[in-house]
Amino acid sequence: MIKNPERKLRVGIPRALLYYKFSDLWITFFEQLGAEVIISPETTKKIKDVAVRLAPDEDCYSTKLYFGHVMALKDKVDYLFIPRFGGRKKKYVGCPKFIGLAEVLRSMIPDLPEILMPHYNRGMDKHTRIGLLVRAFRLGKIFRNNPFVRIRAISKAFKAQKLHNKSMIIDEKTLQKWENSEVILNDFPIYTENERQLKIVLVGHSYVLNDPFSSLSIRSLLQGYGVDIITSEQIPRKLIEKQMAKLEYDIYFDFEREILGTIMHFIESKTVDGIIHLLIFSCGPDSIAGEIAARYSKRDPTIPLLQLVFDELTGEAGMRTRIEAFVDMLRRSIDEQVIFLTTQAHI
Ligand code: SF4
Repeated sequence: MIKNPERKLRVGIPRALLYYKFSDLWITFFEQLGAEVIISPETTKKIKDVAVRLAPDEDCYSTKLYFGHVMALKDKVDYLFIPRFGGRKKKYVGCPKFIGLAEVLRSMIPDLPEILMPHYNRGMDKHTRIGLLVRAFRLGKIFRNNPFVRIRAISKAFKAQKLHNKSMIIDEKTLQKWENSEVILNDFPIYTENERQLKIVLVGHSYVLNDPFSSLSIRSLLQGYGVDIITSEQIPRKLIEKQMAKLEYDIYFDFEREILGTIMHFIESKTVDGIIHLLIFSCGPDSIAGEIAARYSKRDPTIPLLQLVFDELTGEAGMRTRIEAFVDMLRRSIDEQVIFLTTQAHI
């Protein structure tokens, strides 16, 4: 693609994987540098079909979808932004897929626009927080020479991300209010007069929880069944770390800590009627967290745990039936004091 100096440079960001965690940081950064940011559209069947055709078979479903989002941007932008993200904490890692994806895409699809792939891995010696700022400063030079503009862009981007985190993660007081049905944190549940309102915690990766196509619109489905939900993304970090400290071993996958800590917290606190855990087929970190969660749940089965495994073959009808049956079971279990064991379904 020929870059025209008369117009703003266009940066494409795929609406997939870490976009759902860091979009505010990335978008603010590039916009402050005067770039036009183009986000790929919401996942559709067309995006999925392209993705499944192109991506390596052994990739997890979420990574495959990334390919479809990249293709949706390919001819519309000057640059693609695909950071190589190792982890945001010294001791813990993200997923190896996040590190290799940019290189894999570049080698598999040769006519892609230039890929901006800054590397950050807090676990590596040179990847300190200062190092991150230096990398961002250097990256900004592609768009603006002026160092003050670049410093301001970095500062505003981190502020935007801080705000995002603050609006996403609730504090313990708010959690208590939700548990006591004093506040609704997500969509208002639709229930009939005689129907008992249920509370369910929905647990999974941000790119599954927040992508209606990936999760087959599970959130609106639950809303329609009169279920008040909270998600693992919203749970106070302190509570998650408290649960993680109870394990005899350390979980090194940062995002799985959020998932597992949430499940363990609600099994212990018993402040929800049920837990739904969304897993991705062939995801290594999920298979570890899924197994530990199932064992915890079996040890104390008072709060039923439903684990649903998603991939490109997952059908909406199968999922709907599972959810309906689970919700129905929960309503009966409250009335009849029945105890259910963990169910795992590949739908
Ligand atoms: S954590 Fe799992 S679902 Fe996410 S990219 Fe890695 S393998 Fe895929």
